[in-house]
Amino acid sequence: MRGVFAPFGVFDIMPRLVMKFGGTSVANLDRIRRAAKRVGVEVAKGYEVIVIVSAMSGKTNELVGWVNETSPMFDAREYDAVVSSGENVTAGLMALTLQEMDVPARSWQGWQVPLKTTSAHSSARIEEIPTDNLDAKFAEGMKVAVVAGFQGISPEGRITTLGRGGSDTTAVAFAAAFDAERCDIYTDVDGVYTTDPRISDKARKLDRIAFEEMLELASLGAKVLQTRSVELAMRYGVKLRVLSSFEEMDDNAGTLVCAEEDIVESNVVAGVAYSRDEAKMTLISVADRPGIAAAIFGPLSEAGVNVDMIVQNISEDGRTDMTFSCPTDQVTRAQKAMEDAKTSGEINYHELVADTDVAKVSVVGIGMRSHAGVAAQMFNALKNEGVNIKVITTSEIKISVLIDRKYMELAVQALHDAFGLEKAA
Ligand code: ADP
Ligand code: ASP
Ligand code: MG
Repeated sequence: MRGVFAPFGVFDIMPRLVMKFGGTSVANLDRIRRAAKRVGVEVAKGYEVIVIVSAMSGKTNELVGWVNETSPMFDAREYDAVVSSGENVTAGLMALTLQEMDVPARSWQGWQVPLKTTSAHSSARIEEIPTDNLDAKFAEGMKVAVVAGFQGISPEGRITTLGRGGSDTTAVAFAAAFDAERCDIYTDVDGVYTTDPRISDKARKLDRIAFEEMLELASLGAKVLQTRSVELAMRYGVKLRVLSSFEEMDDNAGTLVCAEEDIVESNVVAGVAYSRDEAKMTLISVADRPGIAAAIFGPLSEAGVNVDMIVQNISEDGRTDMTFSCPTDQVTRAQKAMEDAKTSGEINYHELVADTDVAKVSVVGIGMRSHAGVAAQMFNALKNEGVNIKVITTSEIKISVLIDRKYMELAVQALHDAFGLEKAA
């Protein structure tokens, strides 16, 4: 507990907690009431609570749909103005529900805090969260600050959003800024599992997972936490817990995302992640010369294409094929960037082939640093299921493969079995 020394003695400042409720946890008024009751329990324990809310489930998708229908080449600033609005509704409703329970609460939109971000609309990064506004209200007796997740304000004074799933990041950033004892992420599963429990009924809940592993799983597709939230928690040492808003919980429930040193035993592979929305692009017959990779990937990066895997084929007669993967919704942008580069003479290629029916499946584990043979075991498990591997990438603690999307679930289950993930180490 923090404390301040004052002339008349030591006054304790109340401990703080951040509680984040995702879309399904605030999907209707009943669920908001249920979530508010949990907040009330923590207030009764003596915490000042910052509640971060998402929009009601399905709402953000609906808003994105409306923007696309109105203006396919939309102004990103107006996109953010529209898609951030779902959170405003749940923040107000949560504050009202708490007030009905006689808990002193008020709502805050991102700009009111203010949560200051960069101007990168739809994927803005948090720059600063001044604490004075909320601190002043806590000092006046407010017990709960309900903050709309996912949104902030740019240096130009426009509303920004933090990318899909961004309320997790809002929550961790508030926990760091307000020195919260813990950041609890309430969602529709009771923790982080060895793989998405919706894909495999053998998925096992982990009591603890290391920051590095969670970071890889999140960036490879496990959407239980937004990648950036894990990065922030790791950087600022935020005690991050994932738990269910639907089940009764004690203080040790859920999954704690923590430092590697705080984990006693773990499997070599901690989990299997997947990403459905991948596309494989191949530039057929490009000149194999110094600078060709820069000439291809420079324009792609300038066009905002997030290239993930890259493979350059063997060269024949001074020409080669270059394959890369990117999210499916960036295929058109990638095609345009390549056509423009061809027209301007920066590159020359015979054809650009896009395969949008692929998925990425990855295994992650810090145990791979000290264990050889994980890749061979992975490839063998896929071979036994007759799954063809199209592209492979590895790093110190992960191996990813690109495969036909129709085999994705089969591959996840086969890898979960092959690495014995249904049982703890
Ligand atoms: P919220 O709306 O609460 O933010 P999300 O839908 O963003 O919830 O994230 C929770 C979902 O993440 C779960 O319903 C689950 O299907 C999915 N998920 C994917 N991988 C995992 C995993 N390894 N462990 C737990 N959940 C996972
Ligand atoms: N409502 C936003 C989304 O659906 C942010 C969030 O829920 O984290 O992406
Ligand atoms: Mg989420």
